[in-house]
Order: sequence, then structure tokens, then C-alpha cells
Amino acid sequence: MFEDIRSKKVIFVCHCMLNQNAISDGTAVYPAAFRELADWAYAKDIGIVQMPCPELQCLGLDRGDPEGAKRPVTVENTRIRRAMEQGEPGEKLKELISLVLWQIREYSRHGFQIIGIIGANRSPNCGVETTSDHDEETEGMGLFMGGLKAALDDLGLKIPMTGLKASDDIVKKLEELKQNG
Ligand code: SF4
Repeated sequence: MFEDIRSKKVIFVCHCMLNQNAISDGTAVYPAAFRELADWAYAKDIGIVQMPCPELQCLGLDRGDPEGAKRPVTVENTRIRRAMEQGEPGEKLKELISLVLWQIREYSRHGFQIIGIIGANRSPNCGVETTSDHDEETEGMGLFMGGLKAALDDLGLKIPMTGLKASDDIVKKLEELKQNG
């Protein structure tokens, strides 16, 4: 099965890396996308799986506060984190993690190579090496990535994860991720 031309290689990326329009107000760093990431993946015949944006799905495009951009980023990120931890947003977040997990398992059981999972450092949801909490950028994972990692660990699935920022040497980090796969 799947012996056609497809590469059978995929990489999972957080939504805003390919669509900056989804990111919280005041934090976009590109007009549309991290083109280096897309160029790198397509040059290597790696299909890009765009994960859903948990904050957009759970809180809306304005994250539930049209004035959010007036706060310092890590303060606003902490507010967003708290809002995502409870009630309906918290339940929706679990559903989104399940949705992504299902896709990962599906590619995995059919023998596709999953190069890795790319998050966005400092994000209260998609941070991998750093996230936001207590009004500062701090070591640790965001709610979405942390939940996804815990679910992968439960299944014994080891998939490399890394977080990016626009200021990173993006190609270098992607190459390192690929080496670890
Ligand atoms: S980092 Fe995650 S939650 Fe934040 S905008 Fe990007 S995809 Fe959405």
C-alpha cells in the first residue's frame, strides 16, 4: 500500500508557522508564514501537516480579549494560558490533542516517517523548549504540546519535537531535528 510517488515523510507543524494570520494580536513576525520552514521541508520532499491552532479553536481569533495586544506579550500569554486550562476551552484542547494524535498514529502505523513536531517557543500552548507562565518566558512546554507529548509517551511513540522562533537559525534546528528522528 502507498507504493505511489509519495515520499512517505511528514512533519507536523504548529498552525501559525504556515499561517501567521492565526497568531494572537500583536505577535505576528511574518506577513504569512515561516517560508524557510516550508522551503526546507518541500526541498526534502517532506509533506507538511499543519496542526490546528489551539488558541484560535478554543478562544477565537481575539483570544477572548480584543485589548490583549496592549499587554506585554508574556502577560497576555499567561492570561491565555489560564483561559485555556479550564471549562470549555480545556475540553476543546483535549479534543484537538486527540485529533493530532490520531493523525500521528495513522501515519505511524502505515510506516510513514514522521520527521518531527514543530512548535513555537514562548507560546503558552505550542512552546516546546520554552513557554509563557507567571508573566514571563520560562522553560517548559505549552499546554497543547505538553498534552501531546504526554499522550505520545503513553503510547510509547518517540517523535522528536522542537520549538522555533523567527530569530532562530531555522534550517539548523530543522536539520538537528531530522538527525534525531
Ligand atoms: S503558537 Fe500555537 S496557539 Fe499560538 S498561534 Fe501558533 S498555533 Fe496557535
